[in-house]
Amino acid sequence: HIPVITIDGPTASGKGTLAAGVAERLGYHTLDSGSLYRVTALAARSAGVAPEDEAGVVAVARAMKLQFAGVQVLLDGVDVSDQLREEQIGAMASQVAAHPAVRAALFDLQCAFRQLPGLVADGRDMGTVIFPAAPLKVFLTATAAARAERRHKQLISKGIPASLADLRADLEARDARDRGRSTAPLKPAEDALLLDNSLVGIDASVQQVVDWWEARLPF
Ligand code: C5P
Repeated sequence: HIPVITIDGPTASGKGTLAAGVAERLGYHTLDSGSLYRVTALAARSAGVAPEDEAGVVAVARAMKLQFAGVQVLLDGVDVSDQLREEQIGAMASQVAAHPAVRAALFDLQCAFRQLPGLVADGRDMGTVIFPAAPLKVFLTATAAARAERRHKQLISKGIPASLADLRADLEARDARDRGRSTAPLKPAEDALLLDNSLVGIDASVQQVVDWWEARLPF
C-alpha cells in the first residue's frame, strides 16, 4: 500500500511548488503530470505533428523515450526541462491534453510514479482519474489575478519580458479549455479539501497539507 497525496488546480496556482515542498517534508517522490503533457506537446512539435491530430500525437506519445532526474526531464536523452516551461508549449500541452486517447496513452506512465515511500502528484485530474483512491486530495484555488501576477513575477525574475494582461488572458483561455473538455475536466474530486493559495504563503500552504496528512494517518 503506497500512499499518494494529490494536488490539483488551475494554471499557475502554485501546485508544483506546493507539491515539491510537501514531498520534501515527507521524503516522498513527486509527479509533475503537467510536464508529461508538455513533453508530449514538445515531441509533437519536433515531429511536425499538429496538436489537433489526435492519432498523430498518440503515436508520438507512445514513441517518446523519457527519463526523469529530479526536476529534469530528458526526451530522447536530451534535457528539455527549460523548453517545457515555454508559454507556447504550455498552450500546446492544453490542446493535446484535450484528446481522450492522448490521456489514455499517458495513464500507465503516471501510475508508475507511485513508489515507496510515497508520492505527491500534481496536475488537473490526479484526484479524479489517476489516483482516485488517494487518502488525501487537495484542490488549489487562487484568483486569475493572483495567478497572472505569480507567473509575471516568475518570468520577469528570469529576465523574460511579459505583459500581465496577456498572461492573464492566456491562463484564462487555458483554464476554460481544461474545465470545458469532456475527458478529465479540471474540477475538485468530491472528497478534495480546498486550499486558497492566493491568501497564504508557500510555507503556510505546505504546513497545511502536512497537517492534513498527519491527521489522516494511519489510514
Ligand atoms: O500544469 P501545467 O501548466 O504544466 O500543465 C500544462 C497543461 O497540461 C494544462 O494546461 C492541462 O491542459 C494539461 N494537464 C492535464 N492534466 C494534468 C496535468 C496537466 O490535462 N494532470
